[in-house]
Amino acid sequence: MDLKLDDFSPEEVAELQRNVFVTTLEQVKGWARSNSMWPMTFGLACCAIEMMASSSAHYDLDRFGTFYRNSPRQSDVMIVSGTVTKKMAPTVRRLYDQLAEPKWVIAMGSCATAGGPYVKSYSVVKGVDQIVPVDVYIPGCPPNPAALIYGINKLKEKIRYEAKTGKKVI
Ligand code: SF4
Repeated sequence: MDLKLDDFSPEEVAELQRNVFVTTLEQVKGWARSNSMWPMTFGLACCAIEMMASSSAHYDLDRFGTFYRNSPRQSDVMIVSGTVTKKMAPTVRRLYDQLAEPKWVIAMGSCATAGGPYVKSYSVVKGVDQIVPVDVYIPGCPPNPAALIYGINKLKEKIRYEAKTGKKVI
């Protein structure tokens, strides 16, 4: 038997609207993933100091469900904070490949975004997006912890939007 809202009394309808949520499994997974992101600690230069400060008592990144891990096996986000040298590039790629799916990348700071002050150096990669796909770019030299937290929250929005619409945001 198909039930419609008209079949219920106003009190029952109000009760249903307060207590029943209709969603999809993908949206639930997107909600859970976005609220429990575990970034791999990946400090390559000075931006890493700001990344470390984000989990200090003052900024308290943990309150967003984001905890740094030391292994790609336990992480789903890679925050590339610092200068990516050409010597380091193969390691960056290998660690990215070791992250389990689904996975995301944040490029933190001018160096990771586009080479930063070393853009003319022969030894520096002009943006980590030449090695791995990047989801969020955070400008600055260095960006402060608040900017990183803003970027992480933008990534959460992206994850939830993709789960809701089924579209990949590039
Ligand atoms: S963007 Fe600036 S602060 Fe960050 S790693 Fe490069 S030089 Fe250092």
